[in-house]
Amino acid sequence: MNKRPSFPVRLDFSSGQAQARRPGSGHSGAALSKDGKPAAGAPPQGVGLDSGAVRMNMVRKLAGQGITDPLVLSAMGSIERHRFVDSALVNQAYEDTSLPIGLGQTISKPGVVARMAELLRHGAAGRLGRVLEIGTGCGYQAAVLSLLADEVYSIERLRGLHEKARDNLRQLRLANLHLLFGDGTLGYAKGAPYAAIIVAAASESVPPAWTDQLAVGGRLVAPVAHGRAAAGQQALLVIDKTVQGLQRTVLEAVHFVPLKSGLA
Ligand code: SAH
Repeated sequence: MNKRPSFPVRLDFSSGQAQARRPGSGHSGAALSKDGKPAAGAPPQGVGLDSGAVRMNMVRKLAGQGITDPLVLSAMGSIERHRFVDSALVNQAYEDTSLPIGLGQTISKPGVVARMAELLRHGAAGRLGRVLEIGTGCGYQAAVLSLLADEVYSIERLRGLHEKARDNLRQLRLANLHLLFGDGTLGYAKGAPYAAIIVAAASESVPPAWTDQLAVGGRLVAPVAHGRAAAGQQALLVIDKTVQGLQRTVLEAVHFVPLKSGLA
């Protein structure tokens, strides 16, 4: 039976450790009361405690912005974004803003992460199969994806960020998330074919490896140069791979760091 996640999402305050709960796992932890405060009896856990209500508020805003996929909302409510940003930025972790993560890169806005995840899921009834993420960054989006897919392969070209993501993700123990150090413009052939490919850095065009490694019936979501590209304008591109070929749909304007090739 395909259990649906509860909504509003339930958050686990029972440990200061990983609080991600697989949607539909049947374990819901301590709930919030109606006023958004931790239910009576939940032990105080410092920032973990405080962040629950703030994260719930973020999820409400995402729903208000038009995100409807219950699995996506549940995953956004489960993954603690504040654990992926610098301690000096923790108080901004649940605002709908991108934040610096070092080496000139940024963690995407929650609104964009949720939007892209919803596009990727495409109304699927259950979890996605194998997913490839290009641009691990701090690992936040990879963690969200790990709750939405059977397996997630996430590639980063900057060693410093690949290692940072590994540190950030260690205590979450997401067994289905595989971090790779490499050039994502080549995709990751060993995990192909993918049900979905999500790209977190903008390119002029889509490298052929990505569509080659996409399964028939699969979907790619990527920011690409669009409009006045010289002025840095970008849009979200969706590519559906069908038996008839590739179907492209250009959606709203976005702003991502550039896709680069090679390792550093
Ligand atoms: N999803 C990330 C967002 C990171 S920003 C998060 O949740 O934090 C985009 C990332 O893409 C940067 O870390 C950048 O180094 C990486 N990137 C750019 N070009 C790449 C490439 N060719 N292969 C892999 N990663 C790349």
